[in-house]
Amino acid sequence: MKSQSDQRIIDRILALKKEKSVYIIAHYYQVPDIQDIADFVGDSYAMAVAAKNSPLETILVAGVDFMAESAAILCPGKTVLTPEPGATCPMANAIRVEDIEAYKEQHPDALIVSYVNTPAAIKAVSDVCVTSSNAVKIISKLPKDVPIFFIPDENLGRYVQGQLDRKMDFFPSSCPIHAALTPETIALRKLEHPGAEVMVHPECRPEVIQMADYVGSTAGIISHACKCPQQELIIATECGIMHKIEELNPDKKLILADPELVCADMKKITPEKILYSLEHMETKVTVPEDIRVKAAVALEKMIELAS
Ligand code: SF4
Repeated sequence: MKSQSDQRIIDRILALKKEKSVYIIAHYYQVPDIQDIADFVGDSYAMAVAAKNSPLETILVAGVDFMAESAAILCPGKTVLTPEPGATCPMANAIRVEDIEAYKEQHPDALIVSYVNTPAAIKAVSDVCVTSSNAVKIISKLPKDVPIFFIPDENLGRYVQGQLDRKMDFFPSSCPIHAALTPETIALRKLEHPGAEVMVHPECRPEVIQMADYVGSTAGIISHACKCPQQELIIATECGIMHKIEELNPDKKLILADPELVCADMKKITPEKILYSLEHMETKVTVPEDIRVKAAVALEKMIELAS
């Protein structure tokens, strides 16, 4: 139950976003209070599309920095705000432009397929972006006879490669939250809940993915949780997803695969910081125009190939 002061913050956010005409887009990994005050909640693909289609001129993105950047890239005429510029993604920051240039030197005809979890400068030197919800579909549409450099999430890349049975090269990086989940932990959860459906995000390690009944993106897991007949569900992705699944499936027993599935960067965003952001209209997210234009090509290509 919310304290009176928490409720006052929420009420003030709701009043200010209306007064200042701000469209709030949140990721499923945000805390429940933030998901509840958002105008739109989705995974990174859906957030990018929602930003592009935003009915309002100011967008506040409750998600890590690359998500706010994607909104700024796709909406050059709009104001994009982040409540916490320090919320970032360690995996997105692992790759540098020089890594891509070095690969291109060896494979000049290669296509650079970049997970949306990348900074704008990386998207700008990519041919197409993908998310976990559309990577298989998009890569299946790319020419078969060219090398693909899939960056920066090796686990997702290997999952896609297995689905499509095509050769790909990878950058050695992964999400520290999903990659920390072990097969032993999944085995233990299965032992505790023998009839449960195991749902796993493709950012997890291949050995964990092998143990899943269902593998899918954040949005895919939510949708599958609603459709599958099992009453007990083991969820192997970031804990924030539980809020939406609980809301849609009040009668099912939901088990988070590991209490350590918490993205500290996503949780840097709080209702207090959103309130401050709305009061001061800070912090504005900008991307240098030359980078923005090139990065927009890779993001627009994703939206085109995913639809
Ligand atoms: S959950 Fe992993 S991939 Fe997503 S923002 Fe956090 S660290 Fe990055």
